[in-house]
Amino acid sequence: MKRPAANAILQPGFKFEDMGIGGLDAEFSAIFRRAFASRIFPPGMIEKLGISHVKGMLLYGPPGTGKTLIARQIGKMLNAREPKIVNGPEILNKFVGQSEENIRKLFADAEREYREKGDESGLHIIIFDELDAICKKRGSSGGDTGVGDQVVNQLLAKMDGVDQLNNILVIGMTNRKDMIDEALLRPGRLEVHMEISLPDENGRLQILKIHTAKMQENKVLDKDVDLAELAALTKNYSGAEINGLVKSATSFAFNRHIKVGTVAGISDDIENLKVNRGDFLNALT
Ligand code: ATP
Repeated sequence: MKRPAANAILQPGFKFEDMGIGGLDAEFSAIFRRAFASRIFPPGMIEKLGISHVKGMLLYGPPGTGKTLIARQIGKMLNAREPKIVNGPEILNKFVGQSEENIRKLFADAEREYREKGDESGLHIIIFDELDAICKKRGSSGGDTGVGDQVVNQLLAKMDGVDQLNNILVIGMTNRKDMIDEALLRPGRLEVHMEISLPDENGRLQILKIHTAKMQENKVLDKDVDLAELAALTKNYSGAEINGLVKSATSFAFNRHIKVGTVAGISDDIENLKVNRGDFLNALT
């Protein structure tokens, strides 16, 4: 499919239900309204209104709640290039002494493409996972060498430069919003902030449905499994933990079909494998 212009993009036929994200409909629709709606305005509308696209957002909340999932799906929805995902600690540690250069490089492809194609350029998404590791409040690093401060400064400079470009969206993710340098969170930088919390019971049910969908489709989920019951029993579980629970239940089911004798093997009735309520309850303990 032809890559559309940076300021007029929405993957045709894209449906929220197909994204594989459970329990975050309200958050996703708020993000859409606050951060992306302008990208699908009719051409010229942005100029008419005298505004610019949102260039950065921050997703924050506990681990495993779907922040990365959302960031990736935003890319798909906006028909963007494959996002560059960078891990905060990695950028600091992997190439010691080159952190600023690494940040600069991250933006280089998008900058080059925008110079060449202007608004015909595809959208580039840069995702910073564990942003708190590189963007701590400046001066808060105590005895360190100030490398962190330089990285924050470099990122701020880049974010300000992005203002001239329409084809970049920066998504920061963190479990510790309180630790992020406030200058980075101002309008024009990571300006849209969205909390992604642990799912409530209904959210957990949606997530369980997503992660057992294949089993249901292939009829390997036993009829005695009641997902609503499991949603009630998984209070305080994150989406990632629910995913882990489903995997663990599957391995309990699988274990029933493993023969361990002189030679370990799989029992003949493997084709009848079903994941049942007991497997989930075992996985919960
Ligand atoms: P971290 O803060 O640790 O980086 P995160 O919030 O970015 O975590 P993800 O990496 O998006 O979490 O989630 C890990 C996995 O957990 C996902 O790949 C997915 O399988 C599952 N998961 C998490 N949240 C959801 C959700 N809301 N719906 C469906 N699956 C989810």
